[in-house]
Amino acid sequence: MSRIAVIDADLIGRKKHRFPNLACMKLSGYHKVHGDEVALKTDYEGLAGFDRVYLSKVFTDTDVPEDILKLGNLIYGGTGFYYDKAPALPDEVEHHMPDYYLYGGWVQEKLDAGAKRNEYRFYLDYSIGFLTRGCFRKCGFCVNRNYDRVCMHSPLEEFLNLDRKKICLLDDNFLGHPKWEEMLQGLKAVNKPFQFRQGLDERLLDDRKCAALFSGRYDETYTFAFDNIADAEVIESKMALARNYTNARLRFYCFCGFDREDVWDEGFWAEDVFGLLKRIEILMRHQCLPYVMRFNRYMESPFRGVYVSIARWANQPGIYKKKSLREFAVMNGEQSACYRYLSDFERQFPKAAYFYDLKYETVCGMADRDVAGER
Ligand code: SF4
Repeated sequence: MSRIAVIDADLIGRKKHRFPNLACMKLSGYHKVHGDEVALKTDYEGLAGFDRVYLSKVFTDTDVPEDILKLGNLIYGGTGFYYDKAPALPDEVEHHMPDYYLYGGWVQEKLDAGAKRNEYRFYLDYSIGFLTRGCFRKCGFCVNRNYDRVCMHSPLEEFLNLDRKKICLLDDNFLGHPKWEEMLQGLKAVNKPFQFRQGLDERLLDDRKCAALFSGRYDETYTFAFDNIADAEVIESKMALARNYTNARLRFYCFCGFDREDVWDEGFWAEDVFGLLKRIEILMRHQCLPYVMRFNRYMESPFRGVYVSIARWANQPGIYKKKSLREFAVMNGEQSACYRYLSDFERQFPKAAYFYDLKYETVCGMADRDVAGER
């Protein structure tokens, strides 16, 4: 029997991180089944006392001490280290049932200290996995850019734990697989609420997909992506199509801060901010929610604070649905950084005023209470 330590570096390095590391759970599951003793380490102390230490991270900006990576008994991996070139786990680990109890002690400590259970729901309530992997769209910023199609990855049974009441799918572009319908039927047959955590590709919706998708026991909010204002026409037509099938709340990831032309000059940054504001206006018109996601080079933008302010407003549905961006800035106070960033931007680009004054309830033309699923 070997003593194995598993380190989820995002758990240590990111204060608000609340999602289990699937690779860590699979490694733990594999070793436990082979009779090893597995511990989840939540610090970097005493690692020399283990026969083997696995360290994984998902986010590139999670810090890990350099000297830890040099330990002779340590193996590290994940997109946080290698991004789109991350080596795969060995097949026997990749396709092993995750150990859903790996985080149990750590979560219990948090709950005993008064944390809200809901914040830890992905550790407690969900079976987690990929039915498919990959994508065919090759977006330049995406970790999946080296794939050229969506491939089958795991049958549901491989990661389904019947004791868990919900299912969280991490598929990159589920609707892009030719067998999406069969897999969706399989999900529905299990009769547990499910969600696609990474968002679905709205551009692929048609009547058949809408009918199948919007009739399932979906968990939380249907989430799609609206990454580029150039897709406005197709996205709008699909939103209208989706509304024939559901009144549920729809949310769209709005990616920003990435220059597809690779120029990164001031003209790009201003245009990108307006592209984001225009997408939010379109979403308002269709009673949809945005979720602003920033490529990390937004930090280099002269409008960095504008991106942060828009994200703080748009990513809080309770505020986004009640206040315009300008009202949000006023709420922060005229001395606040948010107010200053937005005012400076408006002075430089007066057309921003139009977007600052848009208000969800007015733009979508119906009161929030009339939209089923938003209560
Ligand atoms: S569509 Fe989504 S998953 Fe596919 S390459 Fe683009 S960002 Fe990645």
